[in-house]
Amino acid sequence: MQRTQRKMGYEQSKAATAPLRRPGAVGLSSVPARQAPGRAPAANGAHPLTNAVENARLHEYERGTKDRFDAIVPTLREISALQHESDFVTRAQELARDRLGFELPESVLEDAWIEQLDMRSLFAKCVFATYKRFCNEFFASDPLRVADATGFDAFLQSCGFHTLDISPCADGRLAHVIRYVLRLPHRSVRRKSYAGAMFDVEDSIEKWVETEMLRYREGRPNTADAPTRYLKAVAYHYSSVDPAHQGCAAHGSDTDRAAAGGLERLLAFQQAIENSFCCGASIDLLLIGVDTDTDAIRVHAPDGEGRIDLDRYVDAMSLYDSTQSLGATAARERLHDAIRECSPAVTEGMRELVGFLLENNFSQIEYVRGFHGRHYADIGHAERFIGAGVGFEEIQLRNLMYFAYMNTVEESAPDLDVGIKIFSGLNAAHGLPIPVVVRYDYHGEVPGARERAIEHCRRIDKALRARYSDLADRGLLHTLLVVRDCDASNPIEIVACSATPNPASGAH
Ligand SMILES: [Zn+2]
Repeated sequence: MQRTQRKMGYEQSKAATAPLRRPGAVGLSSVPARQAPGRAPAANGAHPLTNAVENARLHEYERGTKDRFDAIVPTLREISALQHESDFVTRAQELARDRLGFELPESVLEDAWIEQLDMRSLFAKCVFATYKRFCNEFFASDPLRVADATGFDAFLQSCGFHTLDISPCADGRLAHVIRYVLRLPHRSVRRKSYAGAMFDVEDSIEKWVETEMLRYREGRPNTADAPTRYLKAVAYHYSSVDPAHQGCAAHGSDTDRAAAGGLERLLAFQQAIENSFCCGASIDLLLIGVDTDTDAIRVHAPDGEGRIDLDRYVDAMSLYDSTQSLGATAARERLHDAIRECSPAVTEGMRELVGFLLENNFSQIEYVRGFHGRHYADIGHAERFIGAGVGFEEIQLRNLMYFAYMNTVEESAPDLDVGIKIFSGLNAAHGLPIPVVVRYDYHGEVPGARERAIEHCRRIDKALRARYSDLADRGLLHTLLVVRDCDASNPIEIVACSATPNPASGAH
C-alpha cells in the first residue's frame, strides 16, 4: 500500500501548538449558523450549518453568467432565419444587442445576401464576446468576493498550514470546486487543474520553493520559522448517478483509479520535497473526492502521521442528512466525531480544516438540492468553451470551461486531447466549432513579460492549429488569444481572434 511509503513522522506538535481559531469567529463568511450555536433547524428544512444568503447570491451569479452563453445558439438560429429579409442587418443587430448584449461583425452580416451566413465563425465570435464581457465584469466588480479572506488565511495558519494548493481534475464539472464546492476564497487558495488531477510534480516543487522563499525573504504569508506547512490537496471526482460513464474520463470513469492516481501523485510530490531539501522539509497532503452529480465531497482525512487511506473517508452527503435535524452545535460536534472515527489519530489542526471543508460543503449540497433537485440535470459534460494556457482566475463556475493548463502543446497534449474529444461530441458533431481561449497571464512588473506572454499565445495557437488541422481546416476550431497582467485588477487584453473577419491576416 502507498501509505507505507512515507518515511518521516509528522511533527504533530507543530500544528497543535498554534492556537486554533474557528473561521466563523474571524468572519470568513457571514453564516448565521456559525455565530449562533445551538440554533434550531430552519423551518424550511435547511441544515443548521448552511448559508442560504450566500447560496442565493452564488446562484444568481451562476445563472446569470450561463444564461448569456446559452442565449447564443437560439439567437443565432433566429438571425439565420432572417438572412434573406430586406432589413436583415438592422434586425440582426437589434436581436444581437437585445439578447446577447453586443453587436455582430457588420461585414459578415452584409455579405449574407450573396452566400449563406458563416454561422460557425459567428457562433465563435459570440462565445468570445460573451467571455470577454464576463471577464471584464469579474475583474471590475469581483462578484465572488469573500467578506473576510484574511480571516481564512489566519484560520489556515492556526490549523498548521501556510498555503493551500489544490489540484482538481481539469474537467469543467470541477471548475467551481474552490468557490462553490468548498466555499473557499478563490484568491487565497492556489488552484492548478490537470486531466485526472494528475498534477505536474515539478511545477508544484517550483511553487513550494517560491512559497518558502517568500516566507524567508518577506515573511509572507508568515515567517519561515512559524511551525506551519505547505498543504497540497488533490480533488478527484466520480459520478453517483452514472459511475461507469460519467466519472473521470482520464481514469476510464473508474473511481478507485481516480483516487489512487491522485494519491500516488501526492506521495511523489511529498517524496520529492523530502529528498530534495534538508532539515526535515516536508509537506502535508489531503485527498478529496467530489461527486460531480451532487457536489458532495468525501475527505480522506489523514491519520496522525499524515498518511491517507483510500478506503477511509468522511462522506459529506451522509453527514449532511444525519445532522440536518440537529442544532448547529450538536451538528458540528457530530461532524468532528465522524472525522475522529474515520481517522482516530488525526491532528487537531487537520481535523479543524477537514471539519471546515465538510461544513462548507453542506451549503453546496443544499445549493444543488435547492436549485437543481436530487442532482444536476447536466451530469455529463456541458462546457461552453475550452481554456488553454495559464490563468483563468475568473473561471469559478461548473461546466463553463474545460481547462487545459499548458506551457507547450506537446507537454499538455493528453489534457488537450481529452478536451477536444469532449468538444467533438458537444459541438463539432452538431456542426458547431470548438471555441478555444488561449490565455497567458503575466506579471506586469517584469520587463518584457507582456510581450513574451503574447508570443506564447501565438505559438500555442499555431501548435493547436497544426495538431487539430482537420478541425481547423473545416472551420470547426476557433481561437481567441488573450493575455492579462495578473498583478493588477486589469481586464483581459485581446491579442487576436480567429472569428473576427480581417482579410489581411484572418486573425484580428
Ligand atoms: Zn476528471
